[in-house]
Amino acid sequence: MARIVMKFGGTSMAGTERIRRVASIVRRQAAGGNEVAVVVSAMAGETDRLVHFCREANPMFDPAEYDVVVSSGEQVTSGLLALTLQALGEKARSWLGWQVPVRTIESHAKARVENIDASAMIECMQRGEIAVIPGFQGISDEGRISTMGRGGSDTSAVAIAAAIGADRCDIYTDVDGVYTTDPRIVAKARKLKAVTYEEMLELASVGAKVLQTRSVGLAMKEGVRVQVLSSFIGEDSPPADDLPGTLIVSDEEMETIDMERQHVTGIAHDKNEAKIILTRVPDKPGTVAHIFEPLAAASINVDMIIQNVGRDKGETDVTFTIPQTDLPRAQALLEEHRPNIGFNRIITDDHIAKISVVGVGMKSHAGVASTMFRSLSDRGINIQAISTSEIKVSVIIDEDETELAVRVLHTAYGLDANEDAA
Ligand code: ASP
Ligand code: MG
Repeated sequence: MARIVMKFGGTSMAGTERIRRVASIVRRQAAGGNEVAVVVSAMAGETDRLVHFCREANPMFDPAEYDVVVSSGEQVTSGLLALTLQALGEKARSWLGWQVPVRTIESHAKARVENIDASAMIECMQRGEIAVIPGFQGISDEGRISTMGRGGSDTSAVAIAAAIGADRCDIYTDVDGVYTTDPRIVAKARKLKAVTYEEMLELASVGAKVLQTRSVGLAMKEGVRVQVLSSFIGEDSPPADDLPGTLIVSDEEMETIDMERQHVTGIAHDKNEAKIILTRVPDKPGTVAHIFEPLAAASINVDMIIQNVGRDKGETDVTFTIPQTDLPRAQALLEEHRPNIGFNRIITDDHIAKISVVGVGMKSHAGVASTMFRSLSDRGINIQAISTSEIKVSVIIDEDETELAVRVLHTAYGLDANEDAA
């Protein structure tokens, strides 16, 4: 007997027919005496619709009232799933955020889970009742409803799994796992049996949008075993307990799963960054602080930074990247601080892409970065900036070369599925 959390996203919950399919997957998991808690999203598109109503009602909306409105989508689907399970003859009930309770801190609309006392819910689960929990919502310390940021039901599911000591947290979604790269770009992309938390965090932060990044961080912190798998399956598909999806696990567990891993696990791309070059800034202590302090104060996240070697007259160029959506704000801030920083020109480019190769294997293997640089240069792809972490190498290139770069690297690191096996 196991204790399992199952999470279903908006596409899986969109309408009666789909909820019925979800109910049958849940019933299959609950069979044989498993204790099951299900976390659900609102129907696809519903949260966007509710956000829109808030904006229409009051563009300067009060975040606490916004939470009252946008949390309602999950209330509807949790009730509907409980009803559907009951119609199938199962014992089931919904547990709203305040009923569990899921206590949150920090501001409304981006609340974080502080603690979950699930003892009452666990008691019911032990008596064979399926618990259905609306994702995304909690209760603030003033006793008001709170929500956890867009995509937050992934985080709800992981938090519930940690709170009830679940054996596994299965995230059912519209893809059947995590791939070596975007299968829309590389037809030979392979589904990974497992990735480590660290790898998933890096992949999520550089464009592989399978899970909310925060949920991966929480899973790592709490040691929750997560599986990403498809909810669009038939009655004869392998059960979730056979691990048909991708497992997200600790380094230690990874070693028992996949002994012959490649040095690179996956390749991600992100077209949402922009590049800024400040020319001829003074090459002296304090300059970069003057550049980046105003950006930090405005919560603009700087990703890569390159400071060139000084040239004559004690001047240098500084290049860095930020999210594309922040480009106009960053430009205005830099202009405003120009007297303090002292640059000559500001050059911007939002037609760039960041390509990242990720893998825990590179901790213990040299040559991963040089393979990347060689493979890109053989195809005439110019690298504009480079950054590295222990398990990631990222480069900035021209956006038009994104697909080519991803394909070339996928082959170079031996990630292409072999056709015989396929
Ligand atoms: N319904 C919320 C959203 O769309 C939360 C979620 O689905 O994860 O952001
Ligand atoms: Mg989602």
